[in-house]
Amino acid sequence: MIQRRILDTIRAYDTVILFRHIRIDGDCVGATKGLARMLQLTFPQKTVLIADSQRSEHLSFLGHDDAELPDSLFRGALGVVIDTATADRISDQRFRLCEKLVKIDHHIEREPYGDINWVEEERSSACEMIAEFYRVCADELHIDKQAAEYIYTGMVTDSGRFQYEGVSGETMRLAGLMLDQGVDAEHLYANLYLRDFESLRFKAHVYSHMQLSENGVASIYISLETQNEFGISFEEACAAVGYLDGIKGCLCWLAFIETGDEKASIRVRLRSRFLPINELAEAYRGGGHANASGATVFGEGEVQALTARADAMVKQYKETHEGWL
Ligand code: AMP
Repeated sequence: MIQRRILDTIRAYDTVILFRHIRIDGDCVGATKGLARMLQLTFPQKTVLIADSQRSEHLSFLGHDDAELPDSLFRGALGVVIDTATADRISDQRFRLCEKLVKIDHHIEREPYGDINWVEEERSSACEMIAEFYRVCADELHIDKQAAEYIYTGMVTDSGRFQYEGVSGETMRLAGLMLDQGVDAEHLYANLYLRDFESLRFKAHVYSHMQLSENGVASIYISLETQNEFGISFEEACAAVGYLDGIKGCLCWLAFIETGDEKASIRVRLRSRFLPINELAEAYRGGGHANASGATVFGEGEVQALTARADAMVKQYKETHEGWL
């Protein structure tokens, strides 16, 4: 069993360093912190660290990780990379210094960069895989409320509170296993979903400026100017993609967010219902899941071109399928 193989590998190393993806989210943070906590409880003599210094206001209630790790720590260590499809997206590129690498991921497999690769594309979250790791190895692994809360956080956020495709009976059983550890779901949901009063003004802006294409693609473009006008963080601007969910007849929705980096890149967040959009994301320097992907575009021309391709895909889907709403 792959989980046993991974645990055997972990057992063989004194230092285990966990990695996640750039642009952190609840799943990669929850999965790395949850696994780190379980390993610290189980193997107190080992050095278990998370190599990532990214900060997220939204996830600050989970606590920060410190990436001030010297290169020497990585040499001879075991690296475990979670929730990261491709090596270029790994949170700390010094994973290359590790002696051995384990990949644990639920994205569509494009690059099996690990020495051991445990990839299950149908899992609703990487945290679900960490919960499964615990379930399989429960005779040896220790867990506590804190570890379960980290893991449950990613299960909730990546599945859209257990509503997206990919949520299975297994997801719910594993979520139950985490809840049994005493997870405080009321506080967790409050931390995740309460918003400042002011941010609702930005939401109103999104609803009054969104566009709807001929065949059913909703989109919003969020310039740096808008981000400044509303005094919102880049992360808050990116959350706009979620506001476009739930429009009848609209099978794909897109948020374009100016990053303000030196290349003037524009982050694209792509979401869809029924039809897969990951190949469209891959055509624009991105990738991800069938119904939730990310990409990067440059300039107005690429914004238009990507939107037009999404529109053509929705048109074709509607012409060849029934039962979409
Ligand atoms: P996002 O909208 O950026 O949260 O992305 C949605 C999903 O696609 C997440 O699971 C990301 O990890 C994944 N994703 C985003 N950008 C990329 C990329 N460039 N390559 C591969 N996967 C990506």
